[in-house]
Amino acid sequence: MTRKRIIAGNWKMHKTNAEAEEFAVNLKVILAKIGEDIEVLVCPPATAISCTARVLDKTDIKIGGQNMHFEEQGAFTGEISGVMLKGAGATHVMLGHSERRHIFNEDNAMINKKMHAAFKANLIPILCIGETMEEKKEGLTSTVLENQLKGCLEGISKNQAQILIIAYEPVWAISNDDPTHKPATPDDAEEAHSFIRDVIEKIYDKTIADNINILYGGSVNPGNAKAILDMKNIDGALVGGASLKPGEFAEIVAAAKF
Ligand code: PEP
Repeated sequence: MTRKRIIAGNWKMHKTNAEAEEFAVNLKVILAKIGEDIEVLVCPPATAISCTARVLDKTDIKIGGQNMHFEEQGAFTGEISGVMLKGAGATHVMLGHSERRHIFNEDNAMINKKMHAAFKANLIPILCIGETMEEKKEGLTSTVLENQLKGCLEGISKNQAQILIIAYEPVWAISNDDPTHKPATPDDAEEAHSFIRDVIEKIYDKTIADNINILYGGSVNPGNAKAILDMKNIDGALVGGASLKPGEFAEIVAAAKF
């Protein structure tokens, strides 16, 4: 079974429009030399989606939102909807990122509503799941992942499951100011990915489980990308910090080549 590879960059709350445009101009040039057999996606802050999309128009590099509201429009000050992301040039949207779950209190039920809304807006959701260090220490990784998958995928049909992307992002591996945060070892990540694929098979079926793209996220960089991406059940990476410089990001894309 050969699944396509996907490398996605999560810029988080970084880059003004001018910086985003400069990044996109550079990435376009660098990736033109690398080739096109890997799906590449950047997720700028909402303000920079349209200008990034404009620069990347007519390339194979796709654009994702980092979050969205579950309603299409209404009195939700500060929020943006799926149709708005789509209109700005996004094809994908990240949902359930751990920073959304832990800083902004999003739970599986809310993420599930967003999943439905994303499909309704014709966006491909990248569903982020992952356990905290406390949960890992308590031996709860499998339980947490299974609960997150079941909760977030409630009512998502087989047809929809065929297109969605999952990102396994152990919270303890995501780089931030905490020096204890380190990437998962390739073997540990592979074990979690294989478990996630099994849960997808239980919820849907073997064909969907065999075909679904499961990305790993958490301190991926040009130095460790290849070892992680070589694992059987790891189909790509969701990259935070190392996606902010076009050169580093492109090195990770190059590491994803079969
Ligand atoms: C992320 O937050 O999605 C992420 C993977 O971040 P980093 O690569 O910086 O750990």
